[in-house]
Amino acid sequence: MNIVLLGPPGAGKGTVAALLKKELGVPHISTGDIFRENIKNGTELGKKVESILASGGLVPDEVTIEMVRDRLSKDDTASGYILDGFPRTIAQAEALEGIDTIDHVLNFVLSTEEIISRLSGRRLCKSTGRIYHIKSNPPKVEGIDDETGEPLIQRDDDKPEAIKHRLEVYEEQTAPLIEYYRKKGNLLDVDSAPSPETIVAAVLKAVGKA
Ligand code: AMP
Repeated sequence: MNIVLLGPPGAGKGTVAALLKKELGVPHISTGDIFRENIKNGTELGKKVESILASGGLVPDEVTIEMVRDRLSKDDTASGYILDGFPRTIAQAEALEGIDTIDHVLNFVLSTEEIISRLSGRRLCKSTGRIYHIKSNPPKVEGIDDETGEPLIQRDDDKPEAIKHRLEVYEEQTAPLIEYYRKKGNLLDVDSAPSPETIVAAVLKAVGKA
């Protein structure tokens, strides 16, 4: 089963994808994670996209589409995948149609107020990737990872100016995909306010896997 997760930054796509991946036994492919991994490893791609990610803008379509085409050609996608953060533009959605058939597009819906609160309070441990929230999921000791004792960091793109820019980019470039997929008939709206476990249960039911 091939699933696309659509929705604004901070709507919980990554958290839900990590749980869904276990339930469905398919890989979670996050374009944001792939870019961050390349930046961490100092690859050519990483150098090219570092400042774009820090500002909250979008990596050019050609670069992103080729990266996804390559990732989807790997053997582990044979029985399906969860695409998180792609497509983000109409051009990417059209390119995806030439690569594969998408069974379900899950549209995560959350108020702007809640999005800003989730993103601005998000903290993470760089080495393990573990994610916290200063209010809803705080570490035992403020600013410190529970397991490794390392200081928690805030993603550059979770800082106020970048959040504002990411939301504008979402409205302009990505939100039109909601109508695009609704017309195709494979869009499912997902209320992102409840807990990730509740969302996953609702999604499994909606896609016939409960
Ligand atoms: P995310 O982790 O999904 O919020 O993505 C982090 C950043 O990676 C975005 O703000 C963009 O700069 C870049 N990015 C991720 N996916 C895409 C995409 N499909 N198209 C262009 N840029 C992307």
